[in-house]
Amino acid sequence: MIPKQCWIFFSYFFFVPEQCSSVKLNIVEGKMQYLYDDSGRRYLDAFAGIVTVSCGHCHPEILNAITEQSKLLQHATTIYLHHTIGDFAESLAAKMPGNLKVVYFVNSGSEANELAMMMARLYTGSLGMISLRNAYHGGSSSTLGLTALNTWKYPIPEGHVHHVMNPDPYRGAFGADAASYANDVQDHIDYGTSGKVAGFIAETMQGVGGAVELAPGYLKLVYDIIHKAGGVCIADEVQTGFGRTGSHYWGFETQGVIPDIVTMAKGIGNGLPLGAVVTTPEIASVLAQKIQFNTFGGNPVCSAGGLAVLRVLDKEKRQAHCADVGSHLLERLRFLMERHDIIGNVRGRGLMVGIELVTDRDNKTPAKAETAVVFEKLRELGVLVGKGGLHGNVFRIKPPMCFSKDDADFLVDALDYSLSKL
Ligand code: PMP
Repeated sequence: MIPKQCWIFFSYFFFVPEQCSSVKLNIVEGKMQYLYDDSGRRYLDAFAGIVTVSCGHCHPEILNAITEQSKLLQHATTIYLHHTIGDFAESLAAKMPGNLKVVYFVNSGSEANELAMMMARLYTGSLGMISLRNAYHGGSSSTLGLTALNTWKYPIPEGHVHHVMNPDPYRGAFGADAASYANDVQDHIDYGTSGKVAGFIAETMQGVGGAVELAPGYLKLVYDIIHKAGGVCIADEVQTGFGRTGSHYWGFETQGVIPDIVTMAKGIGNGLPLGAVVTTPEIASVLAQKIQFNTFGGNPVCSAGGLAVLRVLDKEKRQAHCADVGSHLLERLRFLMERHDIIGNVRGRGLMVGIELVTDRDNKTPAKAETAVVFEKLRELGVLVGKGGLHGNVFRIKPPMCFSKDDADFLVDALDYSLSKL
């Protein structure tokens, strides 16, 4: 039991109001798609520890891999060889297209994006980075510069980042017209830089920003523009990777591009503190000029766990499962739109879904207060979802990938009931 004073301290410093319920649950146990609080109450987890628990809470095979490795060796640092890090890197690189064959292990998504940005700057000799408005790329001091949601931004110096128009088909000024948004990237380069940039970073479906899928064709156009300006293109797969989108293993594949650098975290470890950066040998060579070192990155326990995650996702055919359950969920949610005018938009792919609430569909006025009420109601009914978007009016549904059609039905029924009580 956590002492009460400690609990208040943790609540104050670690819980983010935009994402969390005003009632602080004390979650003490997890099993696949379910979480249990300290009173023994079970919740259906449709948020997976913010898209982190890919295979399921305490998945037995992953637990076993971590436990067996812990019994042998937990840590010796990467100054020594250990076969798990090589095996894991090889398996991860095998999932990558093109020449993305060099893997660095880190401990979080922020660290992965820090490293990717450093590589981009070293490789190109330029400083300027381009990221999308409404993006989240981390909370460390440099990645906060890439993040473009004021909810998360502290007033600290951040330089050399241009936030371009978000190609958001629902709220964006140009709808789903990818070419017009791509022109904005070119404008930033032409008017705001020397003509050269270090790189461009984007999630292929914005996670924290509220499951916003980029206008079709956008990345292809922008990657060309960035390459012409001497920059490299980074895909942030922290939320979209590992088959969650159902149609593809990586989010960037949905836009038909191959990035120069790919960053990942969260789902890669099913809850272990693990992240990775994958790039080409040519780009990676810039790090050879000094020592790139990370004490815990790629330690044997995390590597054994990460390797087990890749194995389980393949063995249990989770990508296909996400496509199947996700399309059922989206279909039911779209049907719900006909019953509740407050649902302005239902979007997503696979098990990465956003439900945006608005007070009127014409003006798309964010229904922030109503979203908060329904969020609480869902929790009372035993369903945990995420909340996001700049206005906190989007439900984020990103459950562990073992989420079933029955779970999806329960979630939609609970949402239907909660909305009817508004
Ligand atoms: N990128 C994306 C897309 C994310 O969603 C997050 C975390 N929400 C991060 C990077 C940062 O990851 P971490 O919290 O592990 O540093």
